[in-house]
Amino acid sequence: MARPVVAIVGRPNVGKSTIFNRLIGDRLAIVEDKPGITRDRIYSVSEWNGKPFSIIDTGGIEIDGDDEILKSIRMQAELAIEEADVIVFMCDAKSGLTQSDEEVAQMLYRSGKPVILSVNKVDNMKRVDDIYEFYSLGFGDPIGISGSHGTGIGDLLDAIVNNLPELTDDQYDEDVIRVALIGRPNVGKSSLVNAILGEERVIVSDIAGTTRDAIDTPFERDGQRYVLIDTAGMRKRGKVYETTEKYSVMRAMRAIERADVVLIVINGEEGIIDQDKHIAGYAYEAGKASLFVVNKWDVVEKHDKTMQEFEKKIRDHFLFMTYAPVMFLSAKTKQRLHKLLPVVQHVAEQHTLRVQTHLLNDVVSDAVAINPPPTDKGRRLRINYVTQVAVKPPTIVVFVNDPELMHFSYERYLENKIRAAFDFEGTPIRIFTRRKS
Ligand code: GDP
Ligand code: GDP
Repeated sequence: MARPVVAIVGRPNVGKSTIFNRLIGDRLAIVEDKPGITRDRIYSVSEWNGKPFSIIDTGGIEIDGDDEILKSIRMQAELAIEEADVIVFMCDAKSGLTQSDEEVAQMLYRSGKPVILSVNKVDNMKRVDDIYEFYSLGFGDPIGISGSHGTGIGDLLDAIVNNLPELTDDQYDEDVIRVALIGRPNVGKSSLVNAILGEERVIVSDIAGTTRDAIDTPFERDGQRYVLIDTAGMRKRGKVYETTEKYSVMRAMRAIERADVVLIVINGEEGIIDQDKHIAGYAYEAGKASLFVVNKWDVVEKHDKTMQEFEKKIRDHFLFMTYAPVMFLSAKTKQRLHKLLPVVQHVAEQHTLRVQTHLLNDVVSDAVAINPPPTDKGRRLRINYVTQVAVKPPTIVVFVNDPELMHFSYERYLENKIRAAFDFEGTPIRIFTRRKS
């Protein structure tokens, strides 16, 4: 299911990133603990009262070549209006209501999207009265919060989840594989889509007012149904900010959320850059199956080890995604293109693979016998029981005597053993450790 998107908008220094960190709790810290993950701090996923959503701090989106503050807040607001389901409009009780707050409010007001007005830096009782002037913005009751003290965050979260749209499942049947092609501009995404569908097919019509659902492209191949997610979004270009990295990442996020399998398209001619890593990081964090597609292989000057060397580069850059297969192909010459969908199908199957509990426990017992958990201050981790609790992605719970004793390296060891026994190619595996003696 696609998580709804919440965007935080507001002037610089009102406390957006402070609140962003408060809203995601300890989630970012957990993700950043894992070695090899590159990410920026503008996007994360969160949950409140059992309702998941993704959240973006648009203040972190620098608009290239724009030093005029108001102009860049405007663009950030425009982005939020276009991409978010709920907008958190943040103002500052300390500096009071300003002209640019009013300008942004006008834009948000016209958008018709749900807007939650929150006034930050309400650090003490005296400032509580300062929020009243913000009623004039026309978004109802302002929610007074303090990023410094953490007060009001629960109210803000309540307001957010009360405004979230119902989760939609895109109305595609369970057996349809939802595929997103993700990558920087010009890596060849649209060309790949055309090549996959066959040249005679037009990707999408430019009919004005096409809805989000109409921008997907369904097709069937060898008895398997697929849908290419957000194929229209790929072609939507032109505005200056759409070429900036953070913007394309934000677009990509949406498509990733809706996909089962994410094709991370890399330009074989240019190699890997940070933007590729951010995009891949989201696919990983969102728990989607992934594969690397190195496109434009036709123009790469090759010798007998070029492929191995390129693959090694990918492995070095994406340490956290060793599970994702790498394919080298060309949308232009169609070289190896026929191998793509079978691999997509395979990783989609692995993404939904459910392993029987007794088989899983056999593998883990063997792993523990070969390489017992190390002791920590005289205490040893004891694993009592392992079970798979979910698919998409496969999620495994390990019941132990004390979760504190489970170290990252041992968890990685168990994951490798599980992968060696059951494949799980192309899909991340989530492992949770719980106490049960
Ligand atoms: P952003 O530019 O909107 O993302 O703002 P930041 O989150 O970077 O915060 C700007 C400044 O305001 C920083 O110095 C924060 O420490 C400070 N700040 C954030 N929240 C509060 C708050 O609730 N009270 C006060 N007094 N300062 C805050
Ligand atoms: P997108 O922005 O990622 O959708 O990229 P496009 O599909 O628009 O392709 C960008 C440019 O790369 C176009 O000029 C394509 O003709 C070219 N291109 C795409 N795939 C290949 C390929 O496999 N080989 C070569 N040589 N050029 C390609």
